[in-house]
Amino acid sequence: MRENRRFHMALIAQCPSRWQLHFISTLYDQSERFRRLSLINLREGPNEVVEHELIMEAAFRRDEEAACELLRAHIEHSNSRVIETVFPQGTVAKEPTGSSTDQPVYPLYKKGLST
Ligand SMILES: [Zn+2]
Repeated sequence: MRENRRFHMALIAQCPSRWQLHFISTLYDQSERFRRLSLINLREGPNEVVEHELIMEAAFRRDEEAACELLRAHIEHSNSRVIETVFPQGTVAKEPTGSSTDQPVYPLYKKGLST
């Protein structure tokens, strides 16, 4: 867990804005609790370590475009794992007909995990 944080913060360590670094650090901390949930969903998928290596190699080559694209894909894979864990297939249902909203019902939201 901490290694992931250190890796991602190291990628942006040269950012001259302390405020931006603080903001990103805060966002990371907030997203981490959801990312931790996804660790119970250990399906086959993109390997986080391999993704980190590819991002690191692109950063060392100073290939900004490749690094950003790899990082974007890495974050998307993490997001997908979180969504698949929090909302497993088949748990999303619609409100009963005639309800005031036509929005899907997410069981975990109703349990107070939406904050
Ligand atoms: Zn990572």
